[in-house]
Amino acid sequence: MNLVYLDHAATSWPKPPSVLRAAENAMITAGGNPGRGAHPLSEAAEELVYACREEAAEMFCTVPERVVFTAGATHALNTAIRGLVTPGSHILCDNFCHNAVRRCVLALVDEGIASADHYDASGTEEETLDSLEENLRPETTLVIATHQSNICSKTLPVERIADFCTCRGLFLVIDAAQSGGRLPVSMKKLPNSAVCLPGHKGLCGPAGVGMLLLSKEMPVRPLLFGGAGIASLDRGMPEELPERLEAGTLPVPAIAGLLAGMRHVRALGIDAIRAWEESLSAEFTAGLGRIGGFALHGETRGSTVSFTHPSRSPAKIGTALAERGICVRTGLHCAPAAHRTLGTESSGTVRVSFGASNTRSDVAGILKALASIV
Ligand code: PLP
Repeated sequence: MNLVYLDHAATSWPKPPSVLRAAENAMITAGGNPGRGAHPLSEAAEELVYACREEAAEMFCTVPERVVFTAGATHALNTAIRGLVTPGSHILCDNFCHNAVRRCVLALVDEGIASADHYDASGTEEETLDSLEENLRPETTLVIATHQSNICSKTLPVERIADFCTCRGLFLVIDAAQSGGRLPVSMKKLPNSAVCLPGHKGLCGPAGVGMLLLSKEMPVRPLLFGGAGIASLDRGMPEELPERLEAGTLPVPAIAGLLAGMRHVRALGIDAIRAWEESLSAEFTAGLGRIGGFALHGETRGSTVSFTHPSRSPAKIGTALAERGICVRTGLHCAPAAHRTLGTESSGTVRVSFGASNTRSDVAGILKALASIV
């Protein structure tokens, strides 16, 4: 069965052939442990890892040393949030957050380390900034912002939020899981910020690697402890970045794939990718309107569209689409806070998320299937 893959918000698929080749080649030609030896295979691995840091630094306007490799966005978010919070801190988190943020923050609250509140990001940029101001407390030290929701295409004004935080001496952690490779992210415009990215979504790399980008030398404490390849006699992790936050062996094949993925995305151009995905979602929502009966939820101008139908549950629609070879995601998408904000907490939604590799015939295919299902 030919698959129509419309689940790019979960992970991008298919991966570009260059990504597959890079991951395989890394295991053959750079099979050593990076930064852990002077032999050719270790040096080749180290060079590959550094090349990926350089590519990310160029893409996100920072320096290679402030590109920290993690196992994914979740790991990056936990590192940044736990590593920046101090006892007694108050955290402000938007109401579109994913569980990678929500559960991390709630664990800190349950452990008695921090307190937390939501700010409302569902309105205009001004209203979002007003809500931040209203919820600020003297003990607030950290703001968290979901750059782009994984339920709909709602986008937060992260540069304005970063300015807000900088003026007040607050740290900002940005969840760029959905925006990386889709929206411009410049660390130069995000002072005081830690940006968390997965490698496997918009950056087209394999699963197993993500990045934590720091806009400056920030006092992020390590989440994991272990070998760093340097200062082995020291009791704690080295002070230097990125080693301070990179305990253990790095996933070189995944990093090689991420390097190829970022090169692929930059060659296509993120503006061109975004314009294409937006044109597909505009065509899709117009088609849903023609079929009739569907309710759209949240912002639809972007790569991700959420909808429901009054007479078919999201799960039923998802299963019926899967039987026709059409891959979407249904339910709460690990983001109950966002569903509460959109009023879809009880039912969840059907989520269609486009990627650069989708075509107009994919849109026609899902619309035809939906018309027959409902
Ligand atoms: N944040 C958002 C908004 C997401 O959509 C996701 C994944 O879907 C994550 C965080 C976590 O990413 P990962 O599962 O790659 O760690």
